[in-house]
Amino acid sequence: MITQIEELIKLQNVDKEIIKTKKQLKEFPKLIKEIEDKIARSIQIVENAKKRLVENQTSRKKLELDVEEYKNKIREKKLALNSIKTNKEYSAMIAEIEFMEKKKEEAEEKVIQSLIETDEIQEEIKKAEEERAKVKTVYEKEKEEILKQQKEVESHLKELEEERAKIVDFIDEEYLKLYTELGKTRGGIPLSKVVNGFCSECYMKIRPQVLVELKKGKDVITCENCGRILYLEVEVKE
Ligand SMILES: [Zn+2]
Repeated sequence: MITQIEELIKLQNVDKEIIKTKKQLKEFPKLIKEIEDKIARSIQIVENAKKRLVENQTSRKKLELDVEEYKNKIREKKLALNSIKTNKEYSAMIAEIEFMEKKKEEAEEKVIQSLIETDEIQEEIKKAEEERAKVKTVYEKEKEEILKQQKEVESHLKELEEERAKIVDFIDEEYLKLYTELGKTRGGIPLSKVVNGFCSECYMKIRPQVLVELKKGKDVITCENCGRILYLEVEVKE
C-alpha cells in the first residue's frame, strides 16, 4: 500500500509539473504574436509614409496643371486686350488678368510648399525604413530565442508525459480511477499531505483513529472532509 501511495504522490507531482508546463507553452504563441505585431507596425509606418508621398506627388501634379492653365488664360487675355475698344472693357480685362496672376502665384506657392513636403516625407520614409530594419533584426532574434525556448519546454513536457506513463504502470487500476476522479473535482490535487495532524489541503483535523490507520499503511485513506487521498510526510521518498 505504501508503494501505491508513493506512486500516487509521484504521479501528483508529475501532474502538477505537466499543468505548469502546459500553461508555460500557452504563453509562447502570445509572445510570438507580440513580436510579429511590432514588426508589422514598423512596416505599416513605412507604408503610410509612402502612401503620403504618392498623394503629395498627385496633388502637386494637379497644382502644376493649374499654374499652366492660369498662364494660358493670362496669355489669352493679354492678347484680347489688343482688340478691346472701350476703357471700361479694358479696365475690366486688366482686373481679370490681375486676378488670374494672383491665382497663378498662389498655385505656384503651393507647388513650392508641396516640394518642401516631398523632402520631409522622403526623410520620414528613410528614417522609418531604418527603424523597420532595426526592429526586424532585434525582434527576429528575440523570436528565434522564444522558439528555441518553446522547443525546450515541449521536449520537457514530452519527458514528463513519458515519466507519467511509467508511474501509471505501477498504480492499480482502482486507485488510478480514484485519483483521476478526485483530480477532476479537487482542482487537480487528489492527494493531501497530513501535516501536524491536519489535512494540508482543507485544514481539517484528522481523527486519531484515522491517523492510526494511516500509519499502518494498509489501505488508501481519504480525508473525511475534502475526500482527498491522505498520506503522511514520512512516506515521501524520491
Ligand atoms: Zn482534507
